[in-house]
Amino acid sequence: MVFRKIEYWTDGDAQQQKLLRAMPWNAEKTKKRVIKFIIFFSISFIIANFFLAYLISMDELLGYLQNPAAHIGTLISLLIFTTVFFFVYWWFREQACIVVCPYGRLQGVLLDKNSIVVAYDYQRGEPRGKFKKADDHDCKCTDCKEEGACKSIAAKFEVIVPKGDCIDCFACVRVCPTGIDIRNGTQLECVNCTACIDSCDAIMTSIQKPTGLIRYASENSILKKVKLKFTTRIKAYTAVLALLISLLVFLLVSRTDLDARLMRTAGMTYTTLPDGRISNLYNLKLTNKTHKNIPFTLKPENFKGQIEYVGSSSLTVKKEDYEQLQFFVILNRNEVKGWKTALQIGMYQNGKKIKTITAKFIGPEIYN
Ligand code: SF4
Ligand code: SF4
Repeated sequence: MVFRKIEYWTDGDAQQQKLLRAMPWNAEKTKKRVIKFIIFFSISFIIANFFLAYLISMDELLGYLQNPAAHIGTLISLLIFTTVFFFVYWWFREQACIVVCPYGRLQGVLLDKNSIVVAYDYQRGEPRGKFKKADDHDCKCTDCKEEGACKSIAAKFEVIVPKGDCIDCFACVRVCPTGIDIRNGTQLECVNCTACIDSCDAIMTSIQKPTGLIRYASENSILKKVKLKFTTRIKAYTAVLALLISLLVFLLVSRTDLDARLMRTAGMTYTTLPDGRISNLYNLKLTNKTHKNIPFTLKPENFKGQIEYVGSSSLTVKKEDYEQLQFFVILNRNEVKGWKTALQIGMYQNGKKIKTITAKFIGPEIYN
């Protein structure tokens, strides 16, 4: 892989960069470089903070920021992330898109001649040719009512010979963050930022030609001038996409803050207590998906019986954590409906029911 550094985005930037680079080290150059690095580092630090907040939550991050000395490990991670982002800003830049990001490579294998991408209309643009100054020719513009009154750029310039619409101005190449020439066709490096579309449209407007020489288009629409057809493949992709979006929406809407899985302890049936009551032992696994601890209590919902926790089971699920506890459900004989009795157990947080858990209670058939 060849690392190809793109130094400039615009002519103005290029001039500034060249001047600054050529300048001998003096107070002004030092000041500009230091300000630049401070800005880059500050932006990197902000991005690193948001990245960390994404991983550990904003509340926790704000807590860390109030007392960074107590979280030195997190602070070191933050500075490492900041340095990585700073390196990208300062030197790596578009190589992150070209070399690191897998998006372009994945897109490449999915494209065909009907895929809509940022594309140069070579049918309209070629053969390309440069303008030359109007001073060198007789203006053919007939709109002028008096000499020198015409202000249009098109009137001041002319194409050397009649050619396509591309005037080979390289505006689209200069603005491209990955440094490619989209006129050479769709390329792996293109990140679909559309900067070339905007710059070419500006050029087309200034020379009074229709915009859209570079636009979103498919190879077939440019070559055969056919409009996009809703093919079977597109219909199939649309159906799959709709299905996936529906699934995602369903999962988001039905997502609960707390997951609970209740199962009878494996390998055990029921136990008859000395007083004749029947007990079953259960395992409860809880997952807290929130950023807050969830204290809870369990209460019988559809039965009269007792819940007895095993050992010193914690009745709080810590934030973003799992909890597992064991408890007995003890029923009077007359509550046992048969070999399997359906139970409902309510989970309450501060007196408010947050979940209902169902379970099967097994007991001897004799009590039916
Ligand atoms: S869309 Fe962006 S990355 Fe792609 S060619 Fe145009 S300017 Fe370059
Ligand atoms: S900006 Fe448009 S006119 Fe200029 S070189 Fe690119 S495609 Fe051609």
